[in-house]
Amino acid sequence: MEPRDLSSHAAYVPGEGIEEVARELGVDPDSLIKLASNENPLGPPEASVDALREHADRISAYPTSAHSDLTNAIAERWGLDDEQVWLSAGADGAIDLLHRATIEPDQSILAPEPGFAYYPMSARYHHGEVATYPVAKAADFQVTPETVLDAYDGERVVYLTSPHNPTGATIDLNDVEAIADRTGEDALVVVDEAYGEFADVESARTLLKDRDDVAVLRTFSKAYGLAGLRLGYALVPEEWADAYAKVNTPFAVSELACRAGLAAMETDDHVERSVETVAWAREYMAENLDAPTWESGGNFLLVEVGDATEVAEALKHEGVIVRDCTSFGLPECIRITCGTEGGTKAAVEAVNGVLDRRSENEAEAATER
Ligand code: PMP
Repeated sequence: MEPRDLSSHAAYVPGEGIEEVARELGVDPDSLIKLASNENPLGPPEASVDALREHADRISAYPTSAHSDLTNAIAERWGLDDEQVWLSAGADGAIDLLHRATIEPDQSILAPEPGFAYYPMSARYHHGEVATYPVAKAADFQVTPETVLDAYDGERVVYLTSPHNPTGATIDLNDVEAIADRTGEDALVVVDEAYGEFADVESARTLLKDRDDVAVLRTFSKAYGLAGLRLGYALVPEEWADAYAKVNTPFAVSELACRAGLAAMETDDHVERSVETVAWAREYMAENLDAPTWESGGNFLLVEVGDATEVAEALKHEGVIVRDCTSFGLPECIRITCGTEGGTKAAVEAVNGVLDRRSENEAEAATER
């Protein structure tokens, strides 16, 4: 007995974890700064940690009321009906739900390339095909309606990531609308706003008022600092409301995740501080890194460093873990998550040091030749 043919499936490559790097280098994990997975450097909101402790003894029961309380709080936050909020295990889980609700065998999704790896992964194991549109460095990674529509060929789901991972570029709401207007009647345009809190653009939630072909993805992993709990959601058109119950994994979102999410929504303070920290760190990195960067609406910055694998490896030895973007198809770039003030400054110093040494070595090698 073997699994089905998974040869066209790629495995997800996460940013390296602190513990594994510490073990590899034989150093104390506390000596490392991890800026590889776009996590919140301020940690979780205190209110969420308190809620987890308070509700810990309820985990013998399935989550029911916590699920509807959180759904209701999110619906109110966005001015939508409860049925339009599809809670899920991370935004990743919402991607699965949307695929389950849309893709018939051999239908396709259209996804950005480079882009977030889970769109094609999930489509493939839901028996879908994958087409891509280019997010071109030559165009400063800007996505226009033409970029998407030139590649569009009747796909069932079209992904727009705003802010885009790993480039940080955002898409104007008018452009989202133009794309939704010009794709087919049975195409769902999914606007992934996993990093939406950090960007100065209006949420595509606005479009759900008048349209039945746009959905929005949001997560508690980034600005809310709850990545380890796996909590996210899709906002869907009114017409889609009934589908959730038919495609949702029973109790996919845990009691504790719901409780922590609710507590996080009741205190704006943590999100505000997270957004402020990110805005500062983005600007600090863009101004002080001795390497080209691109304007970012996310909690990270894409940096062109030459050989990303070599630079990321060298940085690890300096105690800074960043994301090598080779797996995104950008072997010359690293992605650095915005850290605390101390972490960000240390990362900038380490990157500049590594780049400096590399150019000295190259200059030496050139004179020896
Ligand atoms: N979308 C994008 C663009 C992402 O970068 C991520 C996380 N890396 C996600 C969705 C999924 O986030 P989560 O499942 O943690 O909510």
